[in-house]
Amino acid sequence: MTTVWVYAEVRPEGPSPTALELLTKARSIGDEVAAVALGPGATAAAPALGDHGAATVYASDDQVYADTLGQPAAHALHGLIREHAPDLVLFSTSYDARDVAGRLQAKLGCTLMSNASDVTSAEEAQTQIFGGSRVVDVALEGPSPRLVLVRPKSFAAEPGGGTAEVVTVEAPIPDELTAARRVERHEETAAGPRLEDAKVVIAGGRGLQDPSNFKLLDDLAAAIGGNAAVGASRAVVDAGWVPYSYQVGQTGKTVKPEVYIAVGISGATQHVVGMKGAKRIIAINKDADAPIFRLADLGVVGDALAVVPKLIEEIRARRS
Ligand code: FAD
Repeated sequence: MTTVWVYAEVRPEGPSPTALELLTKARSIGDEVAAVALGPGATAAAPALGDHGAATVYASDDQVYADTLGQPAAHALHGLIREHAPDLVLFSTSYDARDVAGRLQAKLGCTLMSNASDVTSAEEAQTQIFGGSRVVDVALEGPSPRLVLVRPKSFAAEPGGGTAEVVTVEAPIPDELTAARRVERHEETAAGPRLEDAKVVIAGGRGLQDPSNFKLLDDLAAAIGGNAAVGASRAVVDAGWVPYSYQVGQTGKTVKPEVYIAVGISGATQHVVGMKGAKRIIAINKDADAPIFRLADLGVVGDALAVVPKLIEEIRARRS
């Protein structure tokens, strides 16, 4: 009997998509699946968590989890794990979940694996090495539970039609664990969908020549319609052209859109690992030998600053 838990991140507006992805995976490897949801929105998220595989949702709507860093959540999880002894706990590779998983590992002294791209059982997971060009199996050893941090978008979220029993978490939080508090939460406002959710991702690289040329990608996204978002390579994020939230790749976001348009991006393995799961890849690059073309379903060899305006013009003309 394998018991798999998912640390399900929640917000008042709903569960994180990664919680649903992890639960979908958990139900394929666990005989018993539960979710732990801590913070405002936890109880309200239970139907969605149940629908994706959690038979039990350990939930607390306590504001303390939203107002602090990972200490209270790690404390509550530690108590639940000691009581119920799951075999495996899955976390998303997000800032908050990484904080909680690290603190929990220190309390439990168990195995913590980060950056997993798949979890095949409670004893084995997979990760990518050499910039994503190789996948390796990793044995999860040591005392249970094993803790695994999984990259977002590693699995598709699929409802299974289940319902969850909600068990309210009563975990008094010691004062010393609430000393560090969030004083501000800054949400970057974006006009379109989130990069991770967009059906079309248009990503720009150094080949755009100048930060002001990112406007072309915004215009292309607007011409395509509501489901397109703009991303970037690390080279231009590091250069300060666009914020880190745009970055696609090994040290950025993983995206799996219907269409990925790489504009002036060479196709370094560290970039490719974050976008190679796209259904269709279109590359625009002036160098016919750029590695991105090896991956592309459609390649346009040309100057992005000439090609993209033409593409916008053509899309607008067809739409009207
Ligand atoms: P370049 O490699 O400089 O490529 C620019 C491309 O634009 C070239 O192919 C060129 O032919 C083309 N070009 C030039 N002018 C034009 C034009 N006018 N029209 C059309 N094309 C043109 N990178 C990431 O993206 N994401 C990551 O998460 C990431 N993580 C990393 C982690 C580590 C540990 C390391 C070491 C590196 C990481 N990198 C990452 C960096 C990665 O190795 C590359 O340096 C980076 O992806 C290159 O970005 P780029 O393609 O924009 O730039």
